[in-house]
Amino acid sequence: MKGMYISKFAQYLDILEQTSKRLEITEILKNMLKEMEKAETDKGIFLSLGYLRAQFNSLQFNIAEKMMVKILANAFNESEEKINKLYGEEGDLGNVAFKVNPNEKPSKTTILEVHKKLEELATISGTGSQEKKIQKASQILALEDKLTSKFLTRIILSTVRLGFTELTVIDALAKLIFENVTNAPKEKSSTKHNLSAKELKIKIEAKYRIRPDIGTIAKVIKENGLEGIDYISMEVGVPVHAQKAQRLADPQEIIEKLGSVWAEYKFDGTRVQLHLDRSRKMPGLETNQQDLFESRNTLPFVKTFTRNLEETTHQFPDLVEAANKQIDAQSVILDGEAIGYNKKTGDYLPFQETMQRKRKHGIKEAVVETPLKYLIFDILYLNGKTLVDLPLVERRIILDKIIKGNETLEIDYHMETKDVKRLIKFSKEALDRGLEGIMAKKPDSFYEAGARNFTWVKLKKSQEQILGDTIDCVVLGYYFGRGVRANFGIGGFLVGIWDKRDQKYKTITKVGTGLKDEEWEKLKEMVDKVKIKEKTKNADISSKYDCDVWANPEIVVEIAADEISKSSEHSAGFALRFPRLIKFREDKSATDTTTPEEFEQMYRLQKKPIVKIDESLVES
Ligand code: ATP
Repeated sequence: MKGMYISKFAQYLDILEQTSKRLEITEILKNMLKEMEKAETDKGIFLSLGYLRAQFNSLQFNIAEKMMVKILANAFNESEEKINKLYGEEGDLGNVAFKVNPNEKPSKTTILEVHKKLEELATISGTGSQEKKIQKASQILALEDKLTSKFLTRIILSTVRLGFTELTVIDALAKLIFENVTNAPKEKSSTKHNLSAKELKIKIEAKYRIRPDIGTIAKVIKENGLEGIDYISMEVGVPVHAQKAQRLADPQEIIEKLGSVWAEYKFDGTRVQLHLDRSRKMPGLETNQQDLFESRNTLPFVKTFTRNLEETTHQFPDLVEAANKQIDAQSVILDGEAIGYNKKTGDYLPFQETMQRKRKHGIKEAVVETPLKYLIFDILYLNGKTLVDLPLVERRIILDKIIKGNETLEIDYHMETKDVKRLIKFSKEALDRGLEGIMAKKPDSFYEAGARNFTWVKLKKSQEQILGDTIDCVVLGYYFGRGVRANFGIGGFLVGIWDKRDQKYKTITKVGTGLKDEEWEKLKEMVDKVKIKEKTKNADISSKYDCDVWANPEIVVEIAADEISKSSEHSAGFALRFPRLIKFREDKSATDTTTPEEFEQMYRLQKKPIVKIDESLVES
């Protein structure tokens, strides 16, 4: 067979849409994976998640609703008025496609053929590209039956949202191997294993953390079964999930829990993972940014990524140039924090100012006005070898050898101690210097990609907050509000956290304060872009908190509060007292919110004073 027909694939998406039960979703995905041909597995998985390529390498259609109205009108010979009217009734252009497409007969197009056409559609650029996109997209849709055109419309609009994530695909892959139904040749040793589905899942997830490309992982497993997992490795240019930190309330507890630690300053900049490969040339960027790199023709391959795996190379032309000058290695992957500093005083700048680099324009000016330091605290890969399984101490020795000088790139200072007093003094110094706090790391620990455990611990202090730390939450919807706010069309919003165990978002609070007028406007605009007709399937939301406008869970915000209390009404089991917005966390993804375990821990910690800096203990 030449591959799965796109119509069959759409039927799978249809049944996936009809359930919100995790086990059922996993079972359906497993069956879909089983039925797919090896060669199409990666593309099929990407499409089921609503994108074309692994997200770090993403390719956007840049087709908004207005344009889709034209596309549907063109594809199915209807007037734009009619499409708009139906859109008003349905609230979803995929459903509109289903309604206006009269074609019941499935085509013989395969997943791979459609994927190719969709890639062509997404890469149309230059003059007249709008018109060309309308033509191409209508041709793609007009060929297909009702159900297929419904899902293709949603794929093009990036609104697939079937309520499962890459982690559910990992569960399905584990099940597939467990049931021994991959296409791997029977004689391969991998088909004989005695791992449980859970153990298999852990194994696959570990690989996903160093290579967040679920399509490729699925394909390799389809081709080689369990053995395929061994072929998955770190690669320069493919971001690695960043290690994260646990939190503890005071230095004493840190030493009790970790023993001797490496203490580092915690800078409030932005996480940067830097990849360099001298055997390749600097790849092309979007055309309007070519001039950022004056010596681009002589530059090696350098890419930077956020902790959210998004590429940010265009924000850091200065880091790219500095990496070329200061790194003495053929290929590396580094981890660190980039932070802006004041040219005159040398002081580090607040997070928001460093983040000016996020803007699309004016990067060249920002490089001059707000220079950056890249404080490197780890090395994950060197000259073809993965270093994550070496202890931190050894990784740092290697890092010391390859970083030359301390201009833009600088190795992060650390201090080793098992003495509580010294740690207190160090954290006091950090706060005096206006830094966020300190990080304490276990010197003999491996780099645990994507993990948040007690090998890295953060200790922060925030004077004005009664809770020791803020909470990262995802916006689930908003309320129109009353009084003055009603003029904005938004007066409050509902937030939740991601519960990995149930693969569901759980609500924790409504927020109605802490936003400046322009932030209310920004939030409304952001939610309106990702609004959905009904509450998202993968969330537990009591009807008491029903929103006026529901959001697809993708906007992450940082919230401060006075207290965490137990709650029987919020599905997270906790609620916040006096919640207020601190900032938008555009560097975080929706499943990267504060975890239920952290919440539990913060609930317990709040009973203690925040950072206990007992002055009498600090030797001057
Ligand atoms: P927070 O909101 O407290 O920054 P977070 O949830 O964004 O936390 P955490 O993993 O809890 O992320 O805290 C670690 C973050 O602190 C890293 O992502 C990094 O950006 C930053 N950081 C600053 N200095 C260091 C350092 N020396 N070592 C590791 N991370 C550091």
